[in-house]
Amino acid sequence: MAIEVLVLKEAAPGERRVAATPETVKKLVAAGASIKVEPGAGLGAGFVDQAYIDAGAQMATHDTPAQADLVLCVQSPDPAAIGQLKQGATLVGMLQPQADAARGDALKARGILSFPLEKLPRTTRAQAMDVLSSQAGMAGYKAVLIAAQLAPRFFPMLTTAAGTIRPSKVLIVGAGVAGLQAIATAKRLGAQVEGFDVRPETREQIESLGGKFLDLGVSAAGEGGYARQLTDEERAEQQRRLAEHLKGIDVVVCTAAVPGRPAPKIITMPMVEAMKPGSVIVDLAAETGGNCEATKPGQTIELNGVTVAGPLNLASMGAVHASEMYSRNVFNFVSLFVKEGAINFDWNDELLAKTRWPEVVAAE
Ligand code: NAD
Repeated sequence: MAIEVLVLKEAAPGERRVAATPETVKKLVAAGASIKVEPGAGLGAGFVDQAYIDAGAQMATHDTPAQADLVLCVQSPDPAAIGQLKQGATLVGMLQPQADAARGDALKARGILSFPLEKLPRTTRAQAMDVLSSQAGMAGYKAVLIAAQLAPRFFPMLTTAAGTIRPSKVLIVGAGVAGLQAIATAKRLGAQVEGFDVRPETREQIESLGGKFLDLGVSAAGEGGYARQLTDEERAEQQRRLAEHLKGIDVVVCTAAVPGRPAPKIITMPMVEAMKPGSVIVDLAAETGGNCEATKPGQTIELNGVTVAGPLNLASMGAVHASEMYSRNVFNFVSLFVKEGAINFDWNDELLAKTRWPEVVAAE
């Protein structure tokens, strides 16, 4: 009998994305799976139930969670919903099992084999499954649009009958996936864009997007293409140079992160206080504590005329494209083990072995 796959309707407040679109449902059906979609699961992203039915899915009923072999989601279901899943089912999504002890316990109690996609190794083969990248792209884009919306000025240079308007000076802090998309977006809006990062290779990437690399004299390339934490001296030097530079900046978009750690604090309270009134800071790192000391996650505040926004779940704001990308990532990942209507795990495949949670289980 074909395996049953359940696409959950997201329960987290404000979450509009969905883990499978009609496009990926069609592909899963072609892979021999039987698909059930919770009613309304795609609505937040513009996919109506009928579109899923047309793609070959059926609507899930009350009993479906207890029967599904494979469950797809964006954010993790809560412990109560996990308790409704079939014993030993497989769950795929951005699950963060360590972030919440009750969630981790519920997954273990149910014997759920979880694949928290944020753990996926970032190898070339995994690129098509990399949810961190696909969702960060949308987040970086939206962060700049929010900044443009909050800023009391134009981004582009304008020559008008009422005089010339100089372009906004935008600084993007952190030039990973989100930061590079932010640079590209601010550039398209006509701003003068600078970016900085502690990984030296970002200079070329920033410049290739038309941005200017802001050299703060600190280089901290770490393992696996990620940044390492800065030493105290490095951090002090970065801070000193940045404080001076920020006085001339109109808009800052913060995207710096170090995997598995709280966001590095880069913009201190005195730096915010020294910025020009009318400046705007959008802190995309708010979710992990923020790069700016003034950031209040989920809020937009004003400090001496400087607006500081800490928006959360920016990828959900672009739910249509974020879901299209996320669902393709998910499909590509589950294609590693869903074939001809059955689930088969090849634990020699590092993408499966390194992504699974719990990591170590009894011999297979
Ligand atoms: P991330 O979200 O962990 O961090 C964002 C950026 O913040 C990084 O560029 C980091 O260097 C920077 N940063 C950290 N501390 C900083 C500080 N104190 N000051 C300034 N900047 C700071 O990273 P990400 O965007 O997910 O990815 C980063 C790296 O991973 C890149 O090299 C990217 O090319 C690589 N990557 C590889 C793959 C793949 O091959 N599959 C996929 C995605 C990303």
